[in-house]
Amino acid sequence: MYLGVDYYPEHWERERWDVDARLMEDAGVELVRLAEFAWSRLEPEDENYDFSWLDEVISILGGHNIKVILCTPTAAPPAWLINKHPDILPVTRNGQRMSFGARRHYCITNRNYYYYSERIIRKMAEHYKDNPQVIGWQVDNEFGGPKCYCEGCRKEFQLWLKRKYGTLENLNKSWGNAFWSHDYTAWEQIPLPVVYYHNPSFDLDFRRFFSDMTVRYSNMQIRLLKGLNSGKFVTHNFMGLFSELDYYDLSREYDFVSWDNYPRDSSNRYRAALAHDVMRGLKKKNFWIMEEQCSYITREDITRTFPPGEMRLWTYHCYAHGAEAVVYFRWRACNFGIEQFHSGILQHDGTDNSISYRELKQIGKEMGKIGPEIENAKIVSPVAIIYDYENIWVNLAYQEKPMYDYPGEILRFYRSIKRLGINVDMIKSSDDFSNYKVIIAPLLYVMTDELAKNIKDYVSGGGIFIAGFRCAIKDESSNMLKEVLPGKLRDLFGISIYAWDNIRDMAVEIKDRDGKIYRGDTFADLITPEGAEVLAQYNSGWYTPYAAVTVNRYGKGKAYYTGCGLSQEFYDSLMKQLLSEYSIKDIVFPEEVEVNIREKDGRRFVFITNFSDKSVSIKIKRDMRDLITDKYINGETELSPFGIMILEG
Ligand SMILES: [Zn+2]
Repeated sequence: MYLGVDYYPEHWERERWDVDARLMEDAGVELVRLAEFAWSRLEPEDENYDFSWLDEVISILGGHNIKVILCTPTAAPPAWLINKHPDILPVTRNGQRMSFGARRHYCITNRNYYYYSERIIRKMAEHYKDNPQVIGWQVDNEFGGPKCYCEGCRKEFQLWLKRKYGTLENLNKSWGNAFWSHDYTAWEQIPLPVVYYHNPSFDLDFRRFFSDMTVRYSNMQIRLLKGLNSGKFVTHNFMGLFSELDYYDLSREYDFVSWDNYPRDSSNRYRAALAHDVMRGLKKKNFWIMEEQCSYITREDITRTFPPGEMRLWTYHCYAHGAEAVVYFRWRACNFGIEQFHSGILQHDGTDNSISYRELKQIGKEMGKIGPEIENAKIVSPVAIIYDYENIWVNLAYQEKPMYDYPGEILRFYRSIKRLGINVDMIKSSDDFSNYKVIIAPLLYVMTDELAKNIKDYVSGGGIFIAGFRCAIKDESSNMLKEVLPGKLRDLFGISIYAWDNIRDMAVEIKDRDGKIYRGDTFADLITPEGAEVLAQYNSGWYTPYAAVTVNRYGKGKAYYTGCGLSQEFYDSLMKQLLSEYSIKDIVFPEEVEVNIREKDGRRFVFITNFSDKSVSIKIKRDMRDLITDKYINGETELSPFGIMILEG
């Protein structure tokens, strides 16, 4: 398991490099990521390469036993290249060609950009192919736009549509182009979606197209690197809950997923936890953190400085969810540029007195001891939540903002499961469900015959399926289905829905069978049972005769429908009821604490992380060994502010 830092030697004087390498080694850093945005220093002029400085840095780091990940520098094309080929710059939705500057200023389909990207990657890969210190590659940086609306992209989009639909008749029908006289009679007529209020089917296909074009460009880089550098891994730094790309597609050819974790502060702990699980779910394997927040960060504002202990807490939170390496962004805060208020392990002064450096030393020491024990330990989960980009995009269609907060709807269930100390897997709707006792699917808009069959087979075989509101309302082209809702799953749930209301912030009352009242919010499917058992009923105004939550026996399993957003106690009690056999029985912990489990060779490691800046008390009901202190613990014990434990047993 590696501990690393993102290092930009080109930002510092040559004489500083030796000092940095020594400080890194002292802190237990074993890995450094280099050259992420360094194109203008690697190829200062067209076809004039200079790798001498990078060679020197790598050799200095080697003297301190530090391995290297190199980046392809394509996230920042240099000024000479843009000057030579201004068509590389993306065009905004308003038709304005962007200027040189910032970063990611390239059109993802541009042929000239492909040519120059391939050329610099080939040069770098050939230069470093026999260097054993370079263990792997990061492709580009944080793929995800900007979306480009240039003429070249328009032509590519038309080709993409032609390949998908074959005929204009098919396209017109799938998009519903009878509406507002949108029928096309030639492929060349199809524009890019630069206006608002355009067709949701069109919007969805444009999102798929943009994702596919990014995957195509990314795969070009992966194949090039693998062809020239066999034996070195290739990865990319994904962005957690970022949703403009189909990350399942993007991750396919990478050896493993890495991602950039910027939780900001502990109020975002569940989102950070969910993001880890989404990242682990992409390839169903453990992942790396390529950029880990080490203190305050900046863009529009500057976040709070991490108090002592918080960086360490977030680091172990990564390991708890399946990280195999944590690389911090960045080694030292930069004195210039847009990120000058973005903390580093060292502050601007470069001394070893920073909070983060002291903490890194502690983590380095601890991981030196426990890393080999927990390395490659797996996460096994009895429950999975469907996380699906198509459903996110349908929820976004023709809006700048999503109608509903997709991760937010997932978190309603997720929080309750984590409170029981249970691991959660995030999966896509086409995955195999058979390994899971419970599958949860909030905002599962898109329903195909195949998916409906898979869900029914899963439930009839004994599985428990829980849907959130707005289930099975659309087809794959983002058109509303003509069936009585919930459409293809009506018999599975044993309900029908003839009316619904978009209640947003208005709170309504929901009453369960014991008379307990919950708050309902966001959306209301007004359910008529057709054989299902009613678990909770609306208790407000004209909704009152309708059911809000139902359960239906189907074969050997059960299908739950939750027709609206409910207050957290509801999810807490439902998850407790369905998953109690999997909950942690031997540790009692408060809300501030998160518990995750990794397993390896019959050993079980329980990661306990305290997100509070105060001490909390936990109770351990039998002898367990803390891997960090080597002490056996039993009974009531204090967990310090931001404290962590890794218990075996
Ligand atoms: Zn373009």
